Amino acid sequence: MKAHDGMYIGGEWRAAAGTDLIAVVDPADEQVIAHVPAGTAEDVDAAVSAAREALPVWAATPPAERAAKIAALRDVLVARKDEIAETVTAELGAPLPFSQAVHAGVPILVAGSYAELAASYAFEEKVGNSTVYAEPVGVVGAITPWNYPLHQIVAKVAPALAAGCTVVLKPAEDTPLTAQLFAEAVHEAGIPAGVFNLVTGLGPVAGQALAEHGGVDLVSFTGSTAVGKQIGATAGAAVKRVALELGGKSANVILPSADLAKAVGVGIANVMGNSGQTCSAWTRMLVHTSQYDEAVALAAEAATKYGDRIGPLVNAKQHARVRGYIEKGVAEGARLVAGGPEAPCEQGYFVSPTVFADVTPEMTIAQEEIFGPVVSIIRYEDEDDALRIANGTVYGLAGAVWAGDDAEAVAFARRMDTGQVDINGGRFNPLAPFGGYKQSGVGRELGSHGLAEYLQTKSLQF
Ligand code: NAP
Ligand code: MG
Repeated sequence: MKAHDGMYIGGEWRAAAGTDLIAVVDPADEQVIAHVPAGTAEDVDAAVSAAREALPVWAATPPAERAAKIAALRDVLVARKDEIAETVTAELGAPLPFSQAVHAGVPILVAGSYAELAASYAFEEKVGNSTVYAEPVGVVGAITPWNYPLHQIVAKVAPALAAGCTVVLKPAEDTPLTAQLFAEAVHEAGIPAGVFNLVTGLGPVAGQALAEHGGVDLVSFTGSTAVGKQIGATAGAAVKRVALELGGKSANVILPSADLAKAVGVGIANVMGNSGQTCSAWTRMLVHTSQYDEAVALAAEAATKYGDRIGPLVNAKQHARVRGYIEKGVAEGARLVAGGPEAPCEQGYFVSPTVFADVTPEMTIAQEEIFGPVVSIIRYEDEDDALRIANGTVYGLAGAVWAGDDAEAVAFARRMDTGQVDINGGRFNPLAPFGGYKQSGVGRELGSHGLAEYLQTKSLQF
């Protein structure tokens, strides 16, 4: 795979300040496919300076012009769709059809949505004798994970640019090639120098330098709860805006009136897609006691059938971690009905689609984010019991409810402590606010709510 040996700063590829490199590995065969520079605080400082310098002009650029640039960026992503999908497949391991449809497809939708929103958003509002202006927060430090490498970049950069902010991005060390491709697309789209800057590097070095930098006005982070807490604390100490998109342990609640086979089938596919590396995945399946055995049989069959379509996990560490959780599930008394901790291939970080039955709500596998292709099926006695279990984790990112009619499912969903719920298999909506209740995070991404995160208000009274 081709890779840049520098950082994209101030509209050009500049040599990194240091000489350390990050090896990029294809998780399907464990081979090194490229190297990128490991950025230091010096690179971050240069990138933040470039972003600060570009800020006044970009912030004052009329929204319609910013919209046109974001539309141009969307068009470049469309033109380079195949290359994006191949790059994500190479460094994340996702099967190519999934990379094409989701990893390349969704960012195109999201970029398009912000091209439209930048043009239509009310950046100015009359409230009584006041005019309220929505102004950009300033320089954004964006720190992204590897699981949806381009989506997570676009879900931060597109609204930030729409708002009139400038950005420094520190992408995940596992997926820097997708980030470099994005920087190329920004350049090709004619987005002015310094408006978007890229520093590849390690989290505790480049990521931390970015989060702590005095020239950054807002930190937007997606990743683990542990790092999120640290970034939140750093931002709080500096009275700096922060958005955190952290983990999840979402419930797929199947009410007795639901189409059981459909609910189980869609539920299994929801977790297995991207090898279970989705923060909003419905990793806990809640089934009424009267339908429990049937649901377990359906889930085991669906997971086993899924088998050969699953990609590897992103790296050796995640591979060991997920297999450790599966062993823990067995040790705590859950019953394996599909998959297991054994690696199904000699090469690559693969884990078989795994289903546990007889999981109780307190078990580790029902409480902690595993981030692998593992579903826990939990029994409930009645609706209140189901609600107690659904809400019984520290997380609250997403979920699903299935019932005989939408109204019944909606009534249940309204009682869930979570930021997003799919009703009877509702479709993905790139305009719907995405983000967490409780420890799943702070703030929202996507649509107009995602744009508002990058704005601050100024009121003039007349
Ligand atoms: P992570 O360490 O939180 O990584 C997320 C991003 O933060 C990466 O760019 C990372 O850089 C950076 N980072 C790490 N330490 C940092 C620090 N001290 N200061 C600033 N930035 C820092 O997550 P991970 O290690 O990739 O995955 C671990 C677990 O997190 C997973 O098993 C999963 O449970 C969860 N996770 C959740 C999501 C989500 O979408 N909510 C996404 C990914 C992971 P590096 O790439 O160099 O580490
Ligand atoms: Mg990490």
